[in-house]
Amino acid sequence: MVLSLAGAVIGCGRYVSSKPAPNGAEIVATTGLVADLARRVSGGLVEVEAIMGPGVDPHLYQAKAADRRKLENAKLVLYNGLHLEGTMSEMLQNLPHARAVAEGIAKHQLLYAEGQPDPHVWFDVKLWIQALGAVEAAMCDAFPQHADAFRKNAADYRTELQALDEEIRRALATIPPQRRVLITAHDAFRYFGRAYGIEVIGLQGISTADETGLKEMQRIVERVVRDRIPAIFAETSVPMDGVQAVVERCHARGHEVRIAKAKLYSDALDRPDVPEGSYPGMMRHNVQVIVDELRAER
Ligand SMILES: [Zn+2]
Repeated sequence: MVLSLAGAVIGCGRYVSSKPAPNGAEIVATTGLVADLARRVSGGLVEVEAIMGPGVDPHLYQAKAADRRKLENAKLVLYNGLHLEGTMSEMLQNLPHARAVAEGIAKHQLLYAEGQPDPHVWFDVKLWIQALGAVEAAMCDAFPQHADAFRKNAADYRTELQALDEEIRRALATIPPQRRVLITAHDAFRYFGRAYGIEVIGLQGISTADETGLKEMQRIVERVVRDRIPAIFAETSVPMDGVQAVVERCHARGHEVRIAKAKLYSDALDRPDVPEGSYPGMMRHNVQVIVDELRAER
């Protein structure tokens, strides 16, 4: 919920002071995923705004002047960290009231690629529960008057996410083991693969700024053709070129691989008014698409 009235009195009689829209909210998050955590902890007590909307690629996003103003005026800035917000990283590190919610996760639980930590930790629900703890702590520090309510809301969300983790496990278990191969536009799903037992292959690396080499492309095509992999997956925040190129090369080799009917959400949520605009809704959508495409013999 976004409260846009300055100094509005809301339902339960609490007084909420929120700044006028041009200056931004009291809590400003970079991605929709981080904003989802803050909104759930806030429960409407403090206004939360995400800078990056649906379909926006955080690896490449450049802060606009209006974003900078919002980040500077906010009481608390929450960002993913682990270099997800590639071009904004330095600016965020220099903001004294900014907290990187994924950087508290124990180092041994992180995955690395060429020495860099993989930032896509939300795809392992158990790791994202750790990020929820970081959001809760930062918000209790910044708004001590709401700490009790924040702790209660965070505990409720934690319970919901633990159930979501189990639900995902049960759904993916219905895919026969030999068909548990997830080929996506960029390498955002390695935590998902590790947590839920599915092999993942990304056309681009852990950042969309990485190029897919020709050799790498050829290796993936060989694999898809050899194992008759039925479908590969596009993402809402990444252009279709790479996925399209693999499909064309496979078709030329006589294997009719298809692009999954629905795109996966990787680094961005959808609009807040649809189910995929929330973290649990986004995860359920992805799991459903993956199960539908990989489970059936076609
Ligand atoms: Zn990514």
